Amino acid sequence: MRQVVLCLHGIGAPQRELEPGEAPYWISEELFHETVERVAAAAGKVDVRFTFDDGNASDVEIGGTALARAGHRAEMFLLTDRIDSPGSVGRAGIAELLRQGHCIGSHGAAHRDWTALSQDEVPREIRDPKRILAGITGQPVEAAAIPFGRYDRKVLARLVEGGFTRVYSSDGGPWRQGQRPVPRTSLTGTMTGEDIDRILHGPDPLARRLRRKAARAYKRLV
Ligand SMILES: [Zn+2]
Repeated sequence: MRQVVLCLHGIGAPQRELEPGEAPYWISEELFHETVERVAAAAGKVDVRFTFDDGNASDVEIGGTALARAGHRAEMFLLTDRIDSPGSVGRAGIAELLRQGHCIGSHGAAHRDWTALSQDEVPREIRDPKRILAGITGQPVEAAAIPFGRYDRKVLARLVEGGFTRVYSSDGGPWRQGQRPVPRTSLTGTMTGEDIDRILHGPDPLARRLRRKAARAYKRLV
């Protein structure tokens, strides 16, 4: 079965000052609920997983609650420096997410580009958040989502050394068994329900049919 991992950030109105370039990754509550509905309609055809980056308060207030109700176990990738700061998931929120059946992973400490870390910054961004989150959740933290989707061989090696067994990129496209890091497709605020369907199912069948027809016509000509 086709497997797709979605990457969401904030939902609704931000409750903190956004970083430069972040705003396009916030989606409306309408698009979020429409996504959940389209994922439900795709059941049996596409295996869809939800992940959330940056630890925004909307993970708990909107995302986690609706997904738990729809029977999904999402993975929430938190930034340890933001825990309990305004607009972000706090300790009470983490407890609520766990109670809802979701899973907590690491997105680092300060939302840094991990390809730009010096060797002495690695503990703070990669090793410490894993330990801190395990301390708060009381569970081992196995998964990491790479900030800004920026990685190279060194980043992947550091994550393996740091003990992460599941690593997510933002490379887009479906996940094929064994593919590492696991590609995710990010939702953005300008997407429509049709865009969501294309992410879930691939290019629409009509476009595929037209391409095959054009290829056959071309073969007849040559
Ligand atoms: Zn991020």
